[in-house]
Amino acid sequence: MMVVNSLTETQGAQYVQHVFETVKKRNPNESEFHQAVKEILFSLAPVFDKHPHYMEQGVLERIVEPERQIIFRVPWVDDQGKVQVNRGFRIQFNSAIGPYKGGLRFHPSVNASIIKFLGFEQIFKNSLTGQPIGGGKGGSDFDPKGKSDGEIMRFCQSFMTELAKHIGPDTDVPAGDIGVGGREIGYMFGQYKRLQNAFHAGVLTGKPVGFGGSLTRTEATGYGTVYFVQEMLKDNGLDFQDKTVVVSGSGNVSIYAMEKAMQLGAKVVACSDSNGYVYDKNGINLDTVKRLKEVERKRINEYVKEHPEADYFEGCENIWLIPCDIALPCATQNEIDETSAKILVTNGVKAIGEGANMPSTLEAIDVFLENGVLFGPAKAANAGGVAVSALEMAQNSARISWTFEEVDAKLHEIMVNIYHNSKNASEEYGHPGNLVVGSNIAGFLKVANAMISQGII
Ligand code: NDP
Repeated sequence: MMVVNSLTETQGAQYVQHVFETVKKRNPNESEFHQAVKEILFSLAPVFDKHPHYMEQGVLERIVEPERQIIFRVPWVDDQGKVQVNRGFRIQFNSAIGPYKGGLRFHPSVNASIIKFLGFEQIFKNSLTGQPIGGGKGGSDFDPKGKSDGEIMRFCQSFMTELAKHIGPDTDVPAGDIGVGGREIGYMFGQYKRLQNAFHAGVLTGKPVGFGGSLTRTEATGYGTVYFVQEMLKDNGLDFQDKTVVVSGSGNVSIYAMEKAMQLGAKVVACSDSNGYVYDKNGINLDTVKRLKEVERKRINEYVKEHPEADYFEGCENIWLIPCDIALPCATQNEIDETSAKILVTNGVKAIGEGANMPSTLEAIDVFLENGVLFGPAKAANAGGVAVSALEMAQNSARISWTFEEVDAKLHEIMVNIYHNSKNASEEYGHPGNLVVGSNIAGFLKVANAMISQGII
């Protein structure tokens, strides 16, 4: 089994090592971006050994460089009348197969490295969905926690006032991510409409259903992650029935991953937020989590007030100490390190489905692969969100709305296809069952071929 953190000395391997060194030199101090590039580049080495023409066309040198990066000032006024300034980002990474597409993240940790890692991953993820969408990402170091509705609205309006100059339904179509849900998308859409004096429904996805949003978009990433894991389990003679599941986070992706896993007969015993985690041996009560998080916007420690049989622990990273059959990291990047991965393996974990982006470190991924744990990497397992965003764009263009069941069925089919395309690529390129290698190669080939067809641009 190939590991993702080391290479053999083939021509392809030397080529990717060379490009990786250039990326590190050109983008100093961007550790998250380096990590994402390393994972993808190292797993592409077999492609260059088999098809040297990708090297001759400089595809890799071009794909690691964003087509455009925009960094801008976001000034706004808080409830005390004080001027606040945040930094806005939009990275338009690759438009070879469609308009740039990727979410906006509002979180104090946001910086160029984080947005670039997310944008780079998005290129391959979007390609894997089979939909015509390029890769992009954006956001701000704005912290929505504890802000009033008015503050959120004023920030979103200021953010969109600049972003509007750079996006459009055929150019770049942002969506939500951490800290950006239907409320924020609504405020940004309103400001875009006002600036353009036009109702371009397809300029943002993740809109509320009342004005162009797609049914199932809210559920799509979480449901999609579970559909992917379901297919991976099925292919290995397993299923979700009666399995113990741990899901990190308690935001959009986590809530709907929990919901679908429960519908498939699993017992979800733990979830978290950035302060700590809840363990409920009777199974998490999802209605309580949904109300606390989606309606009341409270912390997860409130859960135990309503469910005294459950326990709350400070420190979200220790959630991986809980023994489980299936782990679904759905919070943020690098939340499972090598130590946590080893604990999960020792406790008998059978499958990992990455709902969050890059939640496992490279060392953690190696631990899973070396120990034969079924591993669904983020860009494959969490592609359901952007896939349904592309379906939202299709509905907006055609001015129609599909039912929940129609969109859900398409999502399910897309996730099954992503699993098999990744698995097939892993076999074709000599690493059977390694879905990290398989999904990176399957995502890369379509984009690389389009780039070659379009000339050196
Ligand atoms: P939300 O903002 O809805 O929820 C994020 C959850 O993760 C919250 O419970 C949050 O806790 C927790 N969290 C955030 N940052 C940290 C941190 N630094 N340490 C620990 N916990 C943290 O975001 P989403 O559910 O939309 O996104 C979750 C992950 O899924 C991200 O990696 C995102 O990129 C990825 N993703 C999302 C998609 C989508 O459609 N929304 C699509 C594909 C991937 P707290 O409330 O305390 O901040």
